[in-house]
Amino acid sequence: MINEYFMEKFPFAYNYFSTLLELVKKNKRHFPQAIIFEGTDTKNQYLFALELARILNCKNDDQKNCDCINCKWIKSYSHPAINNVSQIHFKGDGDESKTVISVKQAKKIEQSLNLSSDYHRFFIFFSSDEKKYENDELNDFKNLGYKEIDYSIKPLEYSTFHPTTPNALLKSIEEPPLNTTFIFLTKSKENILQTIVSRCLVFKLNSKKQNLSYREIYPIICDYPKINYLKAIEISDNLQKLIKENLNTEIILNKFLEFLKELIIQNNFNTELYKKIKNDMYSINTAIKQSNANLSDKIVIDTLMLKIARGY
Ligand SMILES: [Zn+2]
Repeated sequence: MINEYFMEKFPFAYNYFSTLLELVKKNKRHFPQAIIFEGTDTKNQYLFALELARILNCKNDDQKNCDCINCKWIKSYSHPAINNVSQIHFKGDGDESKTVISVKQAKKIEQSLNLSSDYHRFFIFFSSDEKKYENDELNDFKNLGYKEIDYSIKPLEYSTFHPTTPNALLKSIEEPPLNTTFIFLTKSKENILQTIVSRCLVFKLNSKKQNLSYREIYPIICDYPKINYLKAIEISDNLQKLIKENLNTEIILNKFLEFLKELIIQNNFNTELYKKIKNDMYSINTAIKQSNANLSDKIVIDTLMLKIARGY
């Protein structure tokens, strides 16, 4: 189970990967072999990548406080199959490069993939130098039970790679052995060579700002888009309760819109879902108009949720 810390941090990635990991554990899906995390909070991107690695390698029930050897290793950055790759990590013998991720590192990765592994291997790419963080800069690490680090975690830039490194990486990224995942941490995929981007799943890991937040309604609507009629009525009842308690109908519906907008950003690779979300956003806008025309909350929200359950 992904630590619920990330549910608040990155609600969509949390949702997506929670579902995916369940399927992976039942051998119904493979875990993606190449992923880009976009966004400004690189330290938390890193922790999220490690959390995914932890769950895929845990030998127990993957609870957040698990102290199996794999979880322990990962939380102290000493797991033999979980690799940092940066200007100062994963350097081989005779690699003098200090300011870039070098071709030799790409070759070293390729060689390491020739050896078999009992683990789910991770290569986490980021930009780094030696650095001692102030204590309060690593609160997130401490809260999650991770050891302190003596290196910085910064987003990949175009110049982080030696110009010929990305091409040297392509083969490994394209045809890795089973149970191997490459993760690239960056502000924007624009900073990574297009030939690599095109082989990756891209996730925006943006933290939500409080004032735009749909956090209050997230627990109510988190099953979206999997909503049947029963669920639709339950959601409608809960939303109406929330409206009675403190929020007006328009605010609630706008929060729902915010949620769907974010979902679209996250699912730009899934056209079916994209169509459904677009339709449901249209329905929500209709509901807002009805509410402004003084239709009762019960009618407006019941109708909306049943429309969403029914689909088009
Ligand atoms: Zn464990």
